[in-house]
Amino acid sequence: MTFHFSNNLPADTYRHKGMRRKLIDSLAEKGIKDERILSAMEQLPRHFFLEKAFEEMAYEDKPFQIGSQQTISQPFTVAYQTQLLNVKPKEKVLEIGTGSGYQAAVLALLEARVFSIERHESLHKKAKAILNKMNLGNVRCRLGDGWKGLPEFAPFDKIIVTAGADAIPKNLKTQLKIGGILVVPVGTTAQRMYKIVRLSKDEFEEEVFHQFKFVPMLKGIVKG
Ligand code: SAH
Repeated sequence: MTFHFSNNLPADTYRHKGMRRKLIDSLAEKGIKDERILSAMEQLPRHFFLEKAFEEMAYEDKPFQIGSQQTISQPFTVAYQTQLLNVKPKEKVLEIGTGSGYQAAVLALLEARVFSIERHESLHKKAKAILNKMNLGNVRCRLGDGWKGLPEFAPFDKIIVTAGADAIPKNLKTQLKIGGILVVPVGTTAQRMYKIVRLSKDEFEEEVFHQFKFVPMLKGIVKG
């Protein structure tokens, strides 16, 4: 699918597109095989989600500061988690940790119906503003504590956590549909990526993947 963003946005030049192409090639070399994900990330200008000062570095495979001591995830991590999530068009997907809004935008380009929760009000507002500007109306941002999930919109086909949880969040497991998938990095100083599939009301299957380093998944919200 080719996506047309609105005109009221920073420039996305041939140079940006060239750097993005190289980044996508490097993700493919690092083992990301899903063509829909590679194509979505090739279309999505990551520099829209970063401060102007980082624009030159937006297409390096690195995390960056986005304010409130938080980071936009490394593109490889975004692709890796999204690949485990196996998103299909029209699926209802919940993201915990909106941050910059980049991961939510990738999910939107995969035609999911996205709900995204952020605990920092300032990040929540910034992400909402850029996503609206980009006409990504299928992303609904909420200020809240992701440990609670989003019971009023549950159950979800897929849930992705983009902060490091010190334990598997129980509320998120129970907000999955039967057959649904939760992808969550679990651990304190470093995290292993978990993929949890809900097999029935009470049965879950767990698979553990590579190690990553995320900012922590904390409790409560931060105003202002
Ligand atoms: N998905 C983001 C990555 C942001 S880093 C992106 O694409 O840019 C993780 C984010 O999770 C941070 O913004 C942090 O504030 C947020 N976070 C941490 N604990 C949370 C919680 N309990 N509920 C909601 N958001 C949380």
